[in-house]
Amino acid sequence: MAIFKYECPGCATLVPILNRVSEKQRRCPQCGNPIGIDDIDRQIAAAEGIRRKTAKKKRIAKSIAFAWLFFCTIFALWAISRMR
Ligand SMILES: [Zn+2]
Repeated sequence: MAIFKYECPGCATLVPILNRVSEKQRRCPQCGNPIGIDDIDRQIAAAEGIRRKTAKKKRIAKSIAFAWLFFCTIFALWAISRMR
């Protein structure tokens, strides 16, 4: 199972990385570009940042949905009370 897909800077091939430190030297199977652990770490950090931003957006969307539901409930209760 790949933990991460490394994007080769030379040819943009996605190279599945099975274990970050299992091999000393990796090369892109497409163009032979060496893949350094530093590069892997940088890409993992970038992917992590995107994931966190997405999670934050999801949280915001959830709270907006909740606020809207709350508003609708209050409005419905208000409308019902006006009907009597
Ligand atoms: Zn490549």
